[in-house]
Amino acid sequence: MIEDPGLQALREAARLSPDNLPLRHHLAGQLLAKGYLAEAEAEYRAALMLAPKDADITAGLAEAFVRQGAHGAALAALEPLLATPGYPPRLGVLAARALLGEGDTARAGYRYHEAVSRDPSVADAELAARLSAPPVTAAPVAARPHQAPPASPYAAAPASPYQSAGSATPVGVGAERSSVSFADVAGMDAVKEALKIKLLLPVQQPELFAAYGKRAGGGVLLYGPPGAGKTHLARAAAGELGASFVSVGLADILDMYIGSSERNLRDTFEMARRNRPCVLFFDEVDALAARRSDMRQAHTRQLVNQFLAELDGVDQNANEGVLVLAATNAPWYVDPAFRRPGRLDQPVFVPPPDAAARAAILRILCRDKPLAEMDFDAVARVTEHFVGADLKGVVDRAVEAKLHQSLSAGRPIPLLTADILAAAQGMRATAVREWMATARNYVMHANDSGAWDELLPWMKTTW
Ligand code: ADP
Repeated sequence: MIEDPGLQALREAARLSPDNLPLRHHLAGQLLAKGYLAEAEAEYRAALMLAPKDADITAGLAEAFVRQGAHGAALAALEPLLATPGYPPRLGVLAARALLGEGDTARAGYRYHEAVSRDPSVADAELAARLSAPPVTAAPVAARPHQAPPASPYAAAPASPYQSAGSATPVGVGAERSSVSFADVAGMDAVKEALKIKLLLPVQQPELFAAYGKRAGGGVLLYGPPGAGKTHLARAAAGELGASFVSVGLADILDMYIGSSERNLRDTFEMARRNRPCVLFFDEVDALAARRSDMRQAHTRQLVNQFLAELDGVDQNANEGVLVLAATNAPWYVDPAFRRPGRLDQPVFVPPPDAAARAAILRILCRDKPLAEMDFDAVARVTEHFVGADLKGVVDRAVEAKLHQSLSAGRPIPLLTADILAAAQGMRATAVREWMATARNYVMHANDSGAWDELLPWMKTTW
């Protein structure tokens, strides 16, 4: 119950003129400021209906969520704007708070770091202090001596507290054998072909490539909407090649302490070299390879420089047999220096699946499940804009429902087309449409070097 008479009057005014955006926005701000969080959330939601992409309103809604502990909802609200080029840095700070609330310290640190380097005035001492508490999962925690963390990891450049960490590989990073191959990747024929020529043939037929002065090594930047299968493809490439697979996430590399991220990166490359032939896979590489021109602080550039140096290797043979695959949903944030020969010189678009590819993905996903009959094409038809990850969600949900039925029946009941269709009905495609809208911006307005030409045909379709 709101007792503040000023707020009550404002609410009444907003009720009488529901389409008055400035009024609603003002009311929402007042509610938030006075701690009426659920009411503020409702007002921000209503305001957002009137102005769907408004950054201030989105920020208000996200803050209302964060203060209610609804961190996932805050991230969902921020996501579309965070995917837009040059988004307001204060949204990055809010995202950092939400990520921290979810326990994702590494990404929270990255978001905060990026936001503050773009606009130091958004710095938040309290948040920075929470971020600088030693992370629970990040790299060599065990090696960290017990000492007070620096006040803010980004204010100054504190020396690393563990200079003598040696060449221990970051915790969580290890070489594995991949159990999947290209046969497990549905569709994507053009992408598989590009990877074969770039990665597999030089290893399988080194003499032929040597005759043309080419050697095995180097990298490919896989980009496309989230969930379209970049990670799956990288794993399959390792399997196809019989190479070991080293998968690296942000949390494995990013560290609060200046210098430690660079060391983690170097150690990871070293480990890949020890395990050659090896596919070294970097997920969310835009965070490790961001444009240096976007960074205001010198030390954030050091990680990018280190990454470039590792890709180049100390000598010609350093990375022989180490195939670097890097994935990103936001290739436009990657520093153009990565596209030079021998680095991630070949951007490869991993597209959302068309109907035939969706049917093929569903067939693979249902391969080991008890099926009665299954019309994969029918499911593919009703799942327009679904990517592989979405389809996996659909199948998981159908299987779960069937499992419940089987448990009560006391016998396994096979899956039917209708089960998958029912599961699909309750779900929405995640991010393809938003991703395509962002991509269109870059293709239309920031494609001077032709880097995104591959996307042009995709822009003709309505998403
Ligand atoms: P991304 O790395 O692009 O975000 P993922 O590779 O994590 O996407 O895809 C999520 C899941 O979707 C994979 O683990 C895999 O099960 C499934 N998937 C995606 N694309 C395909 C495909 N082309 N064929 C088979 N399964 C796929």
